[in-house]
Parts: sequence; structure tokens; C-alpha cells
Amino acid sequence: MEYCFGVDIGGTTIKIGLFSQKNRFLEKWEIPTKKGKDPKPVINDIAEAIEECLKRNKLKKEEVMGIGMAAPGPVTEDGLLRGAVNIGWGDVLLGEEARKIIGISPVLIGNDARLAALGEYTFGAGKDEGSLLMITLGTGVGGGVVFDGKILTGKTGTAGEIGHMTMNPFETRSCNCGKKGCLEQYASATGMVRVAKEFLKKSNEPSTLRRLDTITSKHLWDEAKKGDKMALNIAEYVSRLLGIAIANACYIVDPEMVVIGGGVSQAGQFLLDMVQGAYAENVFPHCRDKKFALAKLRNDAGIYGGVALVLQRDELVNKHKQTMKKMLNR
Ligand SMILES: [Zn+2]
Repeated sequence: MEYCFGVDIGGTTIKIGLFSQKNRFLEKWEIPTKKGKDPKPVINDIAEAIEECLKRNKLKKEEVMGIGMAAPGPVTEDGLLRGAVNIGWGDVLLGEEARKIIGISPVLIGNDARLAALGEYTFGAGKDEGSLLMITLGTGVGGGVVFDGKILTGKTGTAGEIGHMTMNPFETRSCNCGKKGCLEQYASATGMVRVAKEFLKKSNEPSTLRRLDTITSKHLWDEAKKGDKMALNIAEYVSRLLGIAIANACYIVDPEMVVIGGGVSQAGQFLLDMVQGAYAENVFPHCRDKKFALAKLRNDAGIYGGVALVLQRDELVNKHKQTMKKMLNR
């Protein structure tokens, strides 16, 4: 019993990683996500992929201590995935369903951004910290809080959902969640592009961004780095919103470190400095010196987080067993 799997179910692909308890990461690969209302075909695909991997590595199911699975939706403490909108699923007891089909126990599940935070906390940027808040800037904006090794889940699985913090109560357009004025509408990759287009429309100021047929968030940050004034203004605008959202979140959780991840974070130190600067301007003086870091595990944070969840449970179970033993010996 010394192997485990980390699985990260995304809207287009499912990432799977095999880890050993001792040597940690062994191999990883991807399969496409079948979209639809029924999660069973997706779980069947994962089961098949895992079977093949076990065969390839001459491993038995009994040697697997568990599977940690990240899903793109809120997950409650008792393992209920409360819908995954971008795949098409409604509420599902994903861990329980997967355990039955795959035949490996336990299958522990968590929200993808929350598990990415746990992955960074356990193996990545935050591995020397006691607590962290992570924000992922991708197609959407995700978030997660880890305190003393435990993901903050909350009653409904919503804790850490920083991307849907309202940043503009007067916004007229709707976010993917149905609400208006969410951080995600301005600071996700798509949000940043929309903000950029609005800035360009509002003025005649020259900008290298105007020469592009289509603008991506990467273009925006690249041009800002090169010193294009308009791109810099846009980058400052979205950074200010991010800094304020992080400052507001810190008033509740005050973690030791803030980690920024997701595709957009590949803009690197430049982006980190801008967001950290905006944070510092918008937070209590005594909370200003917070550590900020870029995520280290990149796209693999979710599978690492899944594995951390399994290892963590095993440690907890062992601790519990030891306590029971002590009690019985008394
Ligand atoms: Zn929203």
C-alpha cells in the first residue's frame, strides 16, 4: 500500500498522475473529458486509464492507498460535488461513485482550485509555510485557503471562492455564475481581454495592442512588460482589483503566504510585483509585509493536491490508529 493516484478533472482534459509514497511523482498523462449530464462515462474512462497504468507498472489495486480527485465545482466536507457547470454535471457524490466503478478505496474529492492550493502547500511554493491563500488566474479565477494543512471548505464548499467576490456592484453584465461584478469578470484570462478591449475603445491613445488581430492575456502582459503605456494601464487596473480582492480575503484568513497560479501567472515576477503592490496599498499597515509567491507546480497542482489529500488522510488514520492502540493498551 504505497502508491496513490492524483486525478484532475478539467473541462477539456483529465490529468492523471501516479505517485509513490516514498519517491513521490512517478508518471502523469492526460485523457479527454467526455462532456454530458452523466458523470459515469468520465469515471469509466478514468477507471480504464488507471487499470492500464497499474498493468504497465505491474501493480495491484491492493497496493494503491487511494485516489485524490479534483473537480471543477464546489465540494462539501462530506464529498458532495455540487455541480460542475463546464462539464454539464449536476450534484454528484463523485468519490462514492468513482470508488464503486474503479474498485479502489478511498476516492477523496475536492474542488480543483482548493486542491491546487493544497498541492502548492504540501509540495510547491508554500511547502515551508503554515498557511496560504492561493488564487489561480486561468479561464476563470479560482481560489483556496489552506490552514495548518487543512483545506478550508466551509459549510457549502464555497470557502476560498475569491473569483466571485463582488468587485463592482454596478456592473450590468453577468458572470458565468449568474451574479454581476465578480472579480473573475475582470481578472480571469478572458476578463483581462475584455477589460483591454474596453480601454482601447474608450481612447485613441496609440498602443501596440491595436496592431493585433486578436488580443490574449499573454499579449497584454507582454506589451505591458515592454512598456506600452496603454497595456501598462490595463495591467495596473486588473492588478488593483486583484490586490484589493486579496486584501479583503486577508482580513478574514490572514495567511502566512499568498500564492498566485494559473496560466496568466506565467507573466511572472512582473505580475506578482504589480498585484503585491496593489495589495500593500489596500490593506492594514501591519498586514502589509505578506509573502507573495508564484505557484511552482503549474498545471500539475491539482494532481499533487489530490495526492496530498490521500497522504493526509492516511496520516490522520495512522494517528487515529496509534491513539486507539494507546487507549487499548492502557
Ligand atoms: Zn461570478
